[in-house]
Amino acid sequence: MRKQIVAGNWKMNNNLQEAKELCSSIISQLGVSDKEVIIAPSYVHLASLVEFTKGSAVMLAAQNCHQELSGAYTGEISASMLAYLGLDYVILGHSERRVHNGEDNALLVKKVNAAISQGLKVIYCCGETLEQRKSGVHFDLITNQIMEGLFHLDAETMNRIVIAYEPLWAVGTGVTATSAQAQEMHAHIRKVLTDKYGADVAQNTSILYGGSCVPSNAGELFAQTDVDGGLIGGASLNAEDFTSIIKA
Ligand code: PEP
Repeated sequence: MRKQIVAGNWKMNNNLQEAKELCSSIISQLGVSDKEVIIAPSYVHLASLVEFTKGSAVMLAAQNCHQELSGAYTGEISASMLAYLGLDYVILGHSERRVHNGEDNALLVKKVNAAISQGLKVIYCCGETLEQRKSGVHFDLITNQIMEGLFHLDAETMNRIVIAYEPLWAVGTGVTATSAQAQEMHAHIRKVLTDKYGADVAQNTSILYGGSCVPSNAGELFAQTDVDGGLIGGASLNAEDFTSIIKA
């Protein structure tokens, strides 16, 4: 049975004090949860928040990692450094990194491999622009992002992968995909996984929706058969909103 997961992507927000306060509010408002709950603060807060989240229901993710494990890459952070901290997950291929940092599927293959080699689990993001959706190429585009970024992995390793479908036109825009649009794409992704890996892997892979998910729309989105939770940006910066989404 696949996991229900809600992950909060804090992006480049919060100083350390604010991050600790937000983290402890989430932990106390959450109590026990039947979902897997993950937060992804800035790199510089991770070591402190490892201490904060110990023994709680909250897991930690990094927002990115470098494709090499060490070396002369000034300003970069490796998967081995993240694994050493005891993190569970790393988010890879977020649309903001694809757009602002030119990350493509070929680079993501290397990043996925680096993360997996260090025992991290990966939240692999995919999504189309509004123009791509309007021109009808969105299903093929998502298929390619998954095939090119993940299909080098064997079936067993796929249990370390969570997929996040995040249409770019919904990320940070206040426009959410309808539950029907989300379900349609999630079912497509599961079919792509079934064709490659078979039904067992496809049915066990969690597929999260991301894009302006808030307490008022989370319930309907998460009720869709193939939507297994969410990757939450803006609303994860408010403990009350984030925990309402988790409980949705
Ligand atoms: C995200 O950045 O992953 C995201 C889904 O952002 P938002 O919820 O703010 O649209």
